[in-house]
Amino acid sequence: MDADIAFDEHIMTPENLRWQSFLRTLKGPQGIDLHFEGFKAKWSCSHHRLRPLTRKILAQYPGIDVEATLKVFSELKGQCDCEVVFNVEDNFWKHMGGGELILKVPKEEK
Ligand SMILES: [Zn+2]
Repeated sequence: MDADIAFDEHIMTPENLRWQSFLRTLKGPQGIDLHFEGFKAKWSCSHHRLRPLTRKILAQYPGIDVEATLKVFSELKGQCDCEVVFNVEDNFWKHMGGGELILKVPKEEK
């Protein structure tokens, strides 16, 4: 996976302006229907690699390349609809080197 996918507007990544809207929809009743029953979170997912819900929701965003986005999601451990919700954002930032800059404290500030 190339780092420039973060700047590719045809790929839905956490850097895309519509990411929050996409993720909220995929968590919602149109998607895996994540909700609480008492203190337990419940959701429905076929755990199928075709990711039918992700596919359906991505298709609602004009200009998004659904197949290319699903390929990127696979590389970020989003192999089924619920894994897209739980894994992709975290692994995207890990892949992009998340947090490294915080460790670089200029000498004069020590
Ligand atoms: Zn799943």
